[in-house]
Amino acid sequence: MAEIQLKNISKRWGSFVGVDNFDLTIADREFLVLLGPSGCGKTTTMRMIAGLEEATEGEIHIGDRMVNDLDPKDRDVAMVFQSYGLYPHLNVYENIRFPLKVRKADPATHDERVRKAAEMVELTDFLHRKPAELSGGQRQRVALARAIVRKPSVFLMDEPLSNLDAKLRVSTRAQIKNLSHELQVTTVYVTHDQIEAMTLADRVVVMKAGVVQQVGTPTEIYDNPANTFVASFIGSPAMNLLDGEILNGTFTGKNVTVSGLNAPNGPVILGFRAEDATVSETPAGEIAAPLYTIELLGDATMLTVRAGGQLVSIKAHKELRAQIGDPVAFNVPAAICHLFDHETGGRLN
Ligand code: ATP
Repeated sequence: MAEIQLKNISKRWGSFVGVDNFDLTIADREFLVLLGPSGCGKTTTMRMIAGLEEATEGEIHIGDRMVNDLDPKDRDVAMVFQSYGLYPHLNVYENIRFPLKVRKADPATHDERVRKAAEMVELTDFLHRKPAELSGGQRQRVALARAIVRKPSVFLMDEPLSNLDAKLRVSTRAQIKNLSHELQVTTVYVTHDQIEAMTLADRVVVMKAGVVQQVGTPTEIYDNPANTFVASFIGSPAMNLLDGEILNGTFTGKNVTVSGLNAPNGPVILGFRAEDATVSETPAGEIAAPLYTIELLGDATMLTVRAGGQLVSIKAHKELRAQIGDPVAFNVPAAICHLFDHETGGRLN
Protein backbone atom coordinates (compact mmCIF):
# COMPACT_ATOMS: atom_id res chain seq x y z
CA MET A 1 0.00 0.00 0.00
CA ALA A 2 1.73 3.22 -1.09
CA GLU A 3 -0.66 6.08 -1.05
CA ILE A 4 1.21 9.41 -1.08
CA GLN A 5 -0.22 12.29 0.88
CA LEU A 6 1.08 15.77 0.26
CA LYS A 7 -0.36 17.95 2.97
CA ASN A 8 -0.05 21.61 2.07
CA ILE A 9 3.59 21.36 1.06
CA SER A 10 5.45 24.49 0.04
CA LYS A 11 9.00 25.20 -1.02
CA ARG A 12 10.50 28.64 -0.60
CA TRP A 13 13.98 29.92 -1.18
CA GLY A 14 14.13 33.24 0.65
CA SER A 15 11.11 35.16 -0.59
CA PHE A 16 10.83 33.13 -3.81
CA VAL A 17 8.03 30.57 -3.77
CA GLY A 18 8.87 27.51 -5.90
CA VAL A 19 5.84 25.45 -4.82
CA ASP A 20 2.89 26.97 -3.02
CA ASN A 21 0.59 24.93 -0.78
CA PHE A 22 0.45 21.74 -2.80
CA ASP A 23 -2.26 19.56 -1.24
CA LEU A 24 -3.12 16.22 -2.79
CA THR A 25 -3.56 12.54 -2.00
CA ILE A 26 -2.13 10.24 -4.67
CA ALA A 27 -3.90 6.91 -4.52
CA ASP A 28 -2.09 3.60 -4.18
CA ARG A 29 -1.11 2.45 -7.70
CA GLU A 30 -2.19 5.69 -9.30
CA PHE A 31 -0.24 7.13 -12.24
CA LEU A 32 -0.12 10.84 -11.48
CA VAL A 33 1.40 13.32 -13.93
CA LEU A 34 2.66 16.76 -12.91
CA LEU A 35 2.31 18.97 -15.97
CA GLY A 36 3.21 22.58 -16.59
CA PRO A 37 5.63 24.93 -18.31
CA SER A 38 9.29 25.25 -17.40
CA GLY A 39 9.81 26.60 -13.89
CA CYS A 40 6.29 25.89 -12.60
CA GLY A 41 7.52 23.72 -9.72
CA LYS A 42 7.01 20.17 -11.04
CA THR A 43 10.53 18.94 -10.39
CA THR A 44 10.68 20.63 -7.00
CA THR A 45 7.46 18.86 -5.97
CA MET A 46 8.88 15.54 -7.08
CA ARG A 47 12.21 16.17 -5.36
CA MET A 48 10.37 16.88 -2.12
CA ILE A 49 8.62 13.50 -2.39
CA ALA A 50 11.98 11.87 -3.07
CA GLY A 51 13.66 13.64 -0.18
CA LEU A 52 16.16 15.46 -2.40
CA GLU A 53 14.61 18.78 -1.42
CA GLU A 54 13.29 19.66 2.02
CA ALA A 55 9.72 20.99 2.18
CA THR A 56 9.64 24.43 3.79
CA GLU A 57 6.15 23.67 5.03
CA GLY A 58 3.72 20.78 5.08
CA GLU A 59 3.85 17.04 5.52
CA ILE A 60 4.68 14.24 3.12
CA HIS A 61 3.36 10.76 3.86
CA ILE A 62 4.23 7.65 1.88
CA GLY A 63 2.15 4.67 2.91
CA ASP A 64 1.65 4.96 6.64
CA ARG A 65 4.87 6.88 7.30
CA MET A 66 5.51 10.59 7.57
CA VAL A 67 8.73 10.85 5.54
CA ASN A 68 9.73 14.50 5.92
CA ASP A 69 12.71 13.58 8.05
CA LEU A 70 13.69 10.39 6.24
CA ASP A 71 16.70 10.23 3.91
CA PRO A 72 15.91 9.57 0.23
CA LYS A 73 17.29 6.04 0.53
CA ASP A 74 14.85 5.23 3.32
CA ARG A 75 11.72 6.39 1.48
CA ASP A 76 11.36 3.30 -0.73
CA VAL A 77 11.13 5.34 -3.92
CA ALA A 78 12.95 4.71 -7.21
CA MET A 79 13.73 7.58 -9.53
CA VAL A 80 14.19 7.77 -13.29
CA PHE A 81 15.64 10.98 -14.71
CA GLN A 82 15.96 12.39 -18.19
CA SER A 83 19.74 12.03 -17.95
CA TYR A 84 19.78 8.31 -17.43
CA GLY A 85 22.37 8.33 -14.65
CA LEU A 86 24.00 5.05 -15.69
CA TYR A 87 27.49 3.98 -14.60
CA PRO A 88 29.60 4.06 -17.79
CA HIS A 89 32.11 1.44 -16.58
CA LEU A 90 29.42 -1.13 -15.72
CA ASN A 91 27.62 -3.20 -18.31
CA VAL A 92 23.83 -3.27 -18.53
CA TYR A 93 23.57 -6.29 -16.24
CA GLU A 94 25.64 -4.65 -13.51
CA ASN A 95 23.88 -1.30 -13.91
CA ILE A 96 20.52 -2.97 -13.36
CA ARG A 97 21.92 -4.99 -10.47
CA PHE A 98 23.50 -2.01 -8.76
CA PRO A 99 20.55 -1.04 -6.49
CA LEU A 100 20.26 -4.64 -5.28
CA LYS A 101 23.90 -4.59 -4.16
CA VAL A 102 23.56 -1.20 -2.49
CA ARG A 103 20.48 -2.33 -0.64
CA LYS A 104 22.07 -5.66 0.24
CA ALA A 105 19.26 -7.69 -1.29
CA ASP A 106 19.79 -11.45 -0.95
CA PRO A 107 22.55 -12.21 -3.55
CA ALA A 108 20.85 -15.48 -4.43
CA THR A 109 17.95 -13.47 -5.91
CA HIS A 110 20.01 -11.00 -7.95
CA ASP A 111 20.33 -12.91 -11.18
CA GLU A 112 16.67 -13.74 -11.45
CA ARG A 113 15.58 -10.21 -10.60
CA VAL A 114 18.00 -8.55 -13.03
CA ARG A 115 16.96 -10.86 -15.87
CA LYS A 116 13.27 -10.36 -15.16
CA ALA A 117 13.63 -6.55 -15.13
CA ALA A 118 15.71 -6.66 -18.33
CA GLU A 119 13.08 -8.82 -19.97
CA MET A 120 10.33 -6.37 -19.05
CA VAL A 121 12.10 -3.58 -20.92
CA GLU A 122 13.32 -5.86 -23.74
CA LEU A 123 17.01 -5.63 -22.93
CA THR A 124 17.78 -9.31 -22.54
CA ASP A 125 20.08 -9.28 -25.57
CA PHE A 126 22.05 -6.26 -24.36
CA LEU A 127 23.06 -7.30 -20.85
CA HIS A 128 26.77 -7.47 -21.66
CA ARG A 129 26.96 -4.03 -23.31
CA LYS A 130 28.28 -0.86 -21.73
CA PRO A 131 26.05 2.26 -21.78
CA ALA A 132 28.23 3.88 -24.48
CA GLU A 133 27.32 0.98 -26.78
CA LEU A 134 23.57 1.64 -26.48
CA SER A 135 21.13 4.01 -28.17
CA GLY A 136 19.38 6.72 -26.12
CA GLY A 137 16.19 4.69 -25.96
CA GLN A 138 18.07 1.61 -24.78
CA ARG A 139 19.86 3.62 -22.10
CA GLN A 140 16.57 4.98 -20.83
CA ARG A 141 15.26 1.41 -20.69
CA VAL A 142 18.28 0.42 -18.57
CA ALA A 143 17.37 3.27 -16.21
CA LEU A 144 13.79 1.97 -16.10
CA ALA A 145 14.96 -1.59 -15.43
CA ARG A 146 17.17 -0.33 -12.63
CA ALA A 147 14.12 1.31 -11.04
CA ILE A 148 11.95 -1.77 -11.56
CA VAL A 149 14.47 -4.23 -10.13
CA ARG A 150 14.12 -2.77 -6.63
CA LYS A 151 10.36 -3.27 -6.48
CA PRO A 152 9.91 0.11 -4.80
CA SER A 153 6.61 1.38 -3.39
CA VAL A 154 6.81 4.48 -5.56
CA PHE A 155 8.29 5.40 -8.94
CA LEU A 156 9.29 9.00 -9.52
CA MET A 157 10.01 9.88 -13.14
CA ASP A 158 11.33 13.27 -14.19
CA GLU A 159 10.93 13.86 -17.93
CA PRO A 160 12.28 10.39 -18.73
CA LEU A 161 11.53 10.73 -22.44
CA SER A 162 12.84 14.20 -23.16
CA ASN A 163 16.23 13.11 -24.49
CA LEU A 164 14.70 10.72 -27.00
CA ASP A 165 13.75 11.52 -30.58
CA ALA A 166 10.07 11.83 -31.46
CA LYS A 167 9.57 8.25 -32.62
CA LEU A 168 11.38 6.69 -29.67
CA ARG A 169 9.45 8.91 -27.32
CA VAL A 170 6.20 7.44 -28.55
CA SER A 171 7.35 3.83 -28.27
CA THR A 172 9.03 4.31 -24.88
CA ARG A 173 5.93 6.11 -23.65
CA ALA A 174 3.83 3.11 -24.59
CA GLN A 175 6.32 0.89 -22.80
CA ILE A 176 6.13 2.97 -19.62
CA LYS A 177 2.35 2.81 -19.71
CA ASN A 178 2.42 -0.93 -20.18
CA LEU A 179 5.00 -1.38 -17.39
CA SER A 180 3.02 0.72 -14.97
CA HIS A 181 -0.05 -1.35 -15.69
CA GLU A 182 1.89 -4.55 -15.14
CA LEU A 183 3.77 -3.42 -12.02
CA GLN A 184 0.89 -1.53 -10.36
CA VAL A 185 3.24 0.81 -8.54
CA THR A 186 2.23 4.33 -7.49
CA THR A 187 3.94 6.62 -10.00
CA VAL A 188 4.56 10.36 -10.08
CA TYR A 189 5.68 11.49 -13.51
CA VAL A 190 6.88 14.98 -14.41
CA THR A 191 6.55 16.42 -17.90
CA HIS A 192 5.90 19.65 -19.77
CA ASP A 193 4.47 17.66 -22.69
CA GLN A 194 0.69 17.66 -22.57
CA ILE A 195 0.41 14.67 -24.91
CA GLU A 196 2.59 12.58 -22.58
CA ALA A 197 0.40 13.69 -19.68
CA MET A 198 -2.84 12.89 -21.46
CA THR A 199 -1.72 9.49 -22.68
CA LEU A 200 -0.09 8.24 -19.47
CA ALA A 201 -1.99 9.69 -16.55
CA ASP A 202 -4.80 8.42 -14.40
CA ARG A 203 -4.89 12.02 -13.16
CA VAL A 204 -3.04 15.13 -14.23
CA VAL A 205 -2.00 18.03 -12.01
CA VAL A 206 -1.58 21.21 -14.07
CA MET A 207 0.77 23.71 -12.41
CA LYS A 208 1.69 27.30 -13.10
CA ALA A 209 4.19 29.40 -11.15
CA GLY A 210 4.23 27.00 -8.20
CA VAL A 211 0.45 26.88 -7.91
CA VAL A 212 -1.82 23.95 -8.80
CA GLN A 213 -4.32 25.08 -11.42
CA GLN A 214 -6.37 21.91 -11.77
CA VAL A 215 -6.33 18.24 -10.80
CA GLY A 216 -8.37 15.80 -12.84
CA THR A 217 -8.48 12.91 -15.25
CA PRO A 218 -7.18 13.73 -18.73
CA THR A 219 -10.77 13.85 -19.99
CA GLU A 220 -11.92 16.18 -17.22
CA ILE A 221 -9.04 18.53 -17.86
CA TYR A 222 -9.58 18.52 -21.60
CA ASP A 223 -13.36 18.86 -21.51
CA ASN A 224 -13.70 21.17 -18.51
CA PRO A 225 -10.54 23.24 -18.10
CA ALA A 226 -10.73 25.23 -14.86
CA ASN A 227 -9.29 28.37 -16.40
CA THR A 228 -7.81 29.86 -19.56
CA PHE A 229 -4.30 28.74 -18.60
CA VAL A 230 -5.33 25.07 -18.50
CA ALA A 231 -7.50 25.54 -21.61
CA SER A 232 -4.57 26.87 -23.58
CA PHE A 233 -1.98 24.44 -22.18
CA ILE A 234 -3.92 21.24 -22.97
CA GLY A 235 -4.75 20.30 -26.53
CA SER A 236 -3.08 20.89 -29.86
CA PRO A 237 -3.79 23.37 -31.25
CA ALA A 238 -4.59 25.31 -28.10
CA MET A 239 -8.23 26.13 -27.42
CA ASN A 240 -9.39 29.22 -29.34
CA LEU A 241 -9.88 31.99 -26.77
CA LEU A 242 -11.67 35.14 -27.88
CA ASP A 243 -12.28 38.39 -26.03
CA GLY A 244 -15.74 39.88 -26.27
CA GLU A 245 -18.89 40.78 -24.49
CA ILE A 246 -22.16 39.04 -23.78
CA LEU A 247 -25.41 40.93 -24.17
CA ASN A 248 -28.73 39.11 -23.77
CA GLY A 249 -27.17 35.70 -24.41
CA THR A 250 -25.22 36.77 -27.48
CA PHE A 251 -21.44 36.96 -27.46
CA THR A 252 -19.94 39.60 -29.71
CA GLY A 253 -16.21 39.81 -30.38
CA LYS A 254 -14.13 40.91 -33.34
CA ASN A 255 -15.64 39.15 -36.40
CA VAL A 256 -17.42 36.73 -34.03
CA THR A 257 -21.05 36.46 -32.95
CA VAL A 258 -22.36 33.47 -30.99
CA SER A 259 -25.93 33.48 -29.75
CA GLY A 260 -27.87 31.20 -27.43
CA LEU A 261 -25.42 31.44 -24.54
CA ASN A 262 -26.72 31.12 -21.03
CA ALA A 263 -24.62 33.72 -19.23
CA PRO A 264 -25.00 37.16 -17.66
CA ASN A 265 -24.21 40.32 -19.59
CA GLY A 266 -20.65 41.62 -19.49
CA PRO A 267 -17.13 41.10 -20.80
CA VAL A 268 -16.03 37.49 -21.10
CA ILE A 269 -13.54 35.18 -22.79
CA LEU A 270 -15.19 32.66 -25.10
CA GLY A 271 -13.33 29.41 -25.78
CA PHE A 272 -13.86 26.52 -28.15
CA ARG A 273 -11.71 23.75 -29.51
CA ALA A 274 -10.67 23.51 -33.15
CA GLU A 275 -12.41 20.16 -33.56
CA ASP A 276 -15.70 21.26 -31.98
CA ALA A 277 -16.58 23.95 -34.52
CA THR A 278 -17.32 23.25 -38.20
CA VAL A 279 -16.77 24.92 -41.52
CA SER A 280 -19.98 26.60 -42.67
CA GLU A 281 -21.55 25.52 -45.95
CA THR A 282 -22.57 29.12 -46.62
CA PRO A 283 -20.59 32.40 -46.46
CA ALA A 284 -22.35 33.16 -43.16
CA GLY A 285 -21.40 31.70 -39.80
CA GLU A 286 -20.56 32.68 -36.25
CA ILE A 287 -17.11 33.59 -37.51
CA ALA A 288 -16.44 34.87 -41.04
CA ALA A 289 -12.97 35.97 -42.09
CA PRO A 290 -10.34 35.46 -44.78
CA LEU A 291 -8.25 32.30 -44.56
CA TYR A 292 -4.89 33.02 -42.92
CA THR A 293 -3.31 29.60 -43.31
CA ILE A 294 -4.19 26.02 -44.23
CA GLU A 295 -2.27 23.00 -42.91
CA LEU A 296 -2.71 19.44 -44.15
CA LEU A 297 -2.42 17.08 -41.19
CA GLY A 298 -3.08 13.82 -43.01
CA ASP A 299 -6.22 12.81 -41.14
CA ALA A 300 -7.65 16.35 -41.19
CA THR A 301 -7.05 19.85 -42.48
CA MET A 302 -6.43 22.73 -40.10
CA LEU A 303 -7.84 26.07 -41.19
CA THR A 304 -6.84 29.26 -39.44
CA VAL A 305 -8.46 32.64 -39.94
CA ARG A 306 -7.55 35.96 -38.45
CA ALA A 307 -10.69 37.24 -36.78
CA GLY A 308 -10.10 40.86 -35.79
CA GLY A 309 -6.43 40.29 -35.02
CA GLN A 310 -6.95 36.98 -33.20
CA LEU A 311 -6.07 33.70 -34.88
CA VAL A 312 -8.83 31.09 -34.78
CA SER A 313 -8.26 27.47 -35.84
CA ILE A 314 -10.80 24.93 -37.00
CA LYS A 315 -10.19 21.30 -37.81
CA ALA A 316 -11.87 20.46 -41.11
CA HIS A 317 -12.29 17.39 -43.28
CA LYS A 318 -9.05 16.09 -44.77
CA GLU A 319 -10.37 16.61 -48.31
CA LEU A 320 -11.09 20.30 -47.77
CA ARG A 321 -8.99 22.62 -49.91
CA ALA A 322 -8.91 26.42 -49.92
CA GLN A 323 -6.52 29.21 -50.78
CA ILE A 324 -5.02 31.68 -48.35
CA GLY A 325 -7.17 34.82 -48.46
CA ASP A 326 -10.39 32.95 -49.44
CA PRO A 327 -13.37 34.01 -47.36
CA VAL A 328 -14.36 31.22 -44.96
CA ALA A 329 -17.03 30.96 -42.31
CA PHE A 330 -17.25 28.71 -39.24
CA ASN A 331 -20.22 27.51 -37.24
CA VAL A 332 -19.61 27.77 -33.51
CA PRO A 333 -22.72 26.49 -31.69
CA ALA A 334 -23.26 27.83 -28.16
CA ALA A 335 -23.32 24.31 -26.75
CA ILE A 336 -19.61 23.70 -27.49
CA CYS A 337 -18.43 27.00 -26.03
CA HIS A 338 -16.50 27.45 -22.79
CA LEU A 339 -16.85 30.76 -20.99
CA PHE A 340 -14.12 32.23 -18.80
CA ASP A 341 -13.97 35.27 -16.56
CA HIS A 342 -12.63 38.24 -18.43
CA GLU A 343 -10.25 39.21 -15.59
CA THR A 344 -9.33 36.09 -13.64
CA GLY A 345 -9.60 33.60 -16.52
CA GLY A 346 -11.60 31.27 -14.23
CA ARG A 347 -14.25 29.02 -15.75
CA LEU A 348 -17.80 30.40 -15.72
CA ASN A 349 -19.95 27.65 -17.27
P1 ATP B 1 11.46 22.45 -15.77
O1 ATP B 1 10.39 21.88 -16.61
O2 ATP B 1 12.21 23.56 -16.46
O3 ATP B 1 12.35 21.44 -15.13
P2 ATP B 1 9.97 22.72 -13.29
O4 ATP B 1 8.51 22.97 -13.40
O5 ATP B 1 10.37 21.35 -12.96
O6 ATP B 1 10.71 23.25 -14.59
P3 ATP B 1 11.35 23.50 -10.91
O7 ATP B 1 12.67 22.90 -11.28
O8 ATP B 1 10.53 22.79 -9.91
O9 ATP B 1 10.48 23.76 -12.21
O10 ATP B 1 11.61 24.99 -10.41
C1 ATP B 1 10.55 25.80 -9.91
C2 ATP B 1 11.10 27.18 -9.66
O11 ATP B 1 11.98 27.16 -8.54
C3 ATP B 1 11.91 27.75 -10.81
O12 ATP B 1 11.58 29.11 -10.96
C4 ATP B 1 13.34 27.57 -10.37
O13 ATP B 1 14.18 28.56 -10.92
C5 ATP B 1 13.24 27.70 -8.88
N1 ATP B 1 14.29 26.93 -8.18
C6 ATP B 1 14.56 25.63 -8.31
N2 ATP B 1 15.58 25.25 -7.51
C7 ATP B 1 15.98 26.39 -6.85
C8 ATP B 1 16.99 26.68 -5.87
N3 ATP B 1 17.81 25.71 -5.41
N4 ATP B 1 17.08 27.94 -5.45
C9 ATP B 1 16.26 28.91 -5.90
N5 ATP B 1 15.28 28.70 -6.81
C10 ATP B 1 15.14 27.46 -7.27
